Amino acid sequence: MKSESPIFDRIRVKPDKDRRPKTDHIACNWPGCAGAAEHRAPKGRGREKQYWNFCLHHVREYNASYNFFAGMSDDAVLAYQKDALTGHRPTWKMGTGKNRGPGLDGAADPLGVFHEFGGHSNSRPDPTHKPEGRMIRNAERKAFETMGLEVSAGAVEIKARFKALVKRHHPDANNGDRSTEDKLREIIQAYNYLKSVGFG
Ligand SMILES: [Zn+2]
Repeated sequence: MKSESPIFDRIRVKPDKDRRPKTDHIACNWPGCAGAAEHRAPKGRGREKQYWNFCLHHVREYNASYNFFAGMSDDAVLAYQKDALTGHRPTWKMGTGKNRGPGLDGAADPLGVFHEFGGHSNSRPDPTHKPEGRMIRNAERKAFETMGLEVSAGAVEIKARFKALVKRHHPDANNGDRSTEDKLREIIQAYNYLKSVGFG
């Protein structure tokens, strides 16, 4: 049998027409994981009724970054997850080494969400940074609103609020209630946006 990648062969899934009888051991879809997949995770926007099969650990990791993966093609998700095995080295850059303003790291690293969940961040912008005196654009104002913050909120406050909101709206914290997902998605988008423009 010809196989370009043993990993991809093993994890290939055909959720649209999976005619196999249910077995009691499906391998976790996360590249490199041999765990038993006992949990399903929706693939996201525009891909209703399609699911990944993950072990408990990886379904949590996936859910934590749901907005990032939602609607992404299988290849992109798997490529990202594979990259995660080697430490989430970003494969693209939005900024160069010069002029690294607060939050630029966040923009170049969409995995800020992961870092948040890990409870640590290695790209900590100046916590004293405040947007005072700046023109606040509509999108920024909306992002602050989504997070229930004043536009004068600083990075520390934004980050703390984000963590609290994610906790509150995460399906895991609501007995798997998926109705909190949209709100969670908005919050993550708002936070990522604020980070990308230099807040947070
Ligand atoms: Zn796994």
